Amino acid sequence: MVVLKENLMSDDLMEKLVSLCKRKGFIFQSSEIYGGLSGCWDYGPLGVELLRNIKDAWWTSMTYREDIEGIDASILMHPRVWEASGHVDGFTDPMVEDQKTNERFRLDQLLEENGIDVTGLGTDEMNVLLREHDVKSPKGNALSDARQFNLMFKTFVGPLEDESARVYLRPETAQGIFVNYLNVQQAMRQKLPFGIAQIGKAFRNEINTKNFLFRVREFEQMEMQYFVAPGTQDKWFEYWREQRWNWYQRIGLPERKLSWHEHQGDELAHYASAAFDVQYEFPYGPGEIEGIHNRSDYDLSQHEKFSGKQLKYFDEESREKFVPYVIETSIGATRTSMACLVEAYHEEEVKGDKRVVMRFHPRIAPIKAAVLPLVKRDGMPDIAHKITEDLRPYMRVTYDEGGAIGRRYRRMDEVGTPFCLTVDSDTLEDQTVTVRERDTMEQERVPIADLRSHIEGRMDSWQVP
Ligand code: ATP
Repeated sequence: MVVLKENLMSDDLMEKLVSLCKRKGFIFQSSEIYGGLSGCWDYGPLGVELLRNIKDAWWTSMTYREDIEGIDASILMHPRVWEASGHVDGFTDPMVEDQKTNERFRLDQLLEENGIDVTGLGTDEMNVLLREHDVKSPKGNALSDARQFNLMFKTFVGPLEDESARVYLRPETAQGIFVNYLNVQQAMRQKLPFGIAQIGKAFRNEINTKNFLFRVREFEQMEMQYFVAPGTQDKWFEYWREQRWNWYQRIGLPERKLSWHEHQGDELAHYASAAFDVQYEFPYGPGEIEGIHNRSDYDLSQHEKFSGKQLKYFDEESREKFVPYVIETSIGATRTSMACLVEAYHEEEVKGDKRVVMRFHPRIAPIKAAVLPLVKRDGMPDIAHKITEDLRPYMRVTYDEGGAIGRRYRRMDEVGTPFCLTVDSDTLEDQTVTVRERDTMEQERVPIADLRSHIEGRMDSWQVP
């Protein structure tokens, strides 16, 4: 078997992946029959399963513990939330305009595409570089000076479309956690340190969307805010960096494809006093999938100020009242699903034929096992149906009797199903089936009665290459 993926150029790989995603029901363009809506994608039958599995892996690792509670806050919030959080004034990207076509671009991205390093620079410094290097638009036209563009989507509540009814689609899920911090702490009788976790949609009116699911306008985040006593934030920051780094193995993203990026100077968000990104090595270069931030007591203090409500924690031991510090882990479920798709895509040559195989970690694979009767006679379909129904309550399985067995294996390889269970004439004699593993294509006989524990055992002991 020859692995061909390494030979694929970045554009080639992305094109093949986007096409497979559509063909096999992972990802569709939003509103495709109307020409699509840029920055919006729909998860199809297999994509939604992949995404759910990623979210479940995160949810169980974050909330199935004593010190973290889950919530699901609403997307629309009181508009003052976004004034307090700093998003109304500060959630902006520097934007420049092509003076001929009026197309708009994000200045930092444009400079980087022109080989100019903008790490840690503010808009004014980037404007100077724009002029010094005489950077033009991608169409070769002159560019305007940069101005700040706010990324929040605006809408109205109720029938009046005026300023007083203006609300925002949340650009991050975190604020739903901050405003509920005391509710959760008191309802669940939590003591510091403790965390609140949430998975949900976030919206950003990105100036330019690109790279498939990487930069979109509607996406899902998985965020956890960990509330700690002032003075202990550095210890917890390191703790969460380590925890989050190790989690990626659980969804099949190997350590060698991950890296840290530390935010410096103006790169730091308005709320953060320290920030590290976890980056994945995408085909076009490293890209952030998660941010781990020390948000200090910024958010809770701001909400105290703007709401006029006390958000202090009362420490029973020291009899002191204070605003906790917050360590945040903020990961995009959408971006992570793209990393998992990229990581999984492999082309191989097997006995002169090309094989496309999605090597998902079984934990996130949309379908865990396919049950295949070798032929459509001698009672094999009945046995295969029975196996399918017996496994169904425990894992997502599928039944397939259409076409030659080799073609059925290939179909399952292409959607990343880790195990194929084939019912053949020996099954009629000894109640065993062939279990074929996706990556090695090795086969072994397993008694029907042991199939569930066999598959679960192999999923648990799966090694990330
Ligand atoms: P970037 O610098 O790429 O715009 P960011 O630093 O603004 O990202 P955060 O505000 O830290 O991102 O958001 C946390 C996570 O949410 C990111 O690591 C990413 O996974 C996800 N995310 C943010 N913006 C988008 C987007 N436009 N499309 C998809 N995922 C996103």
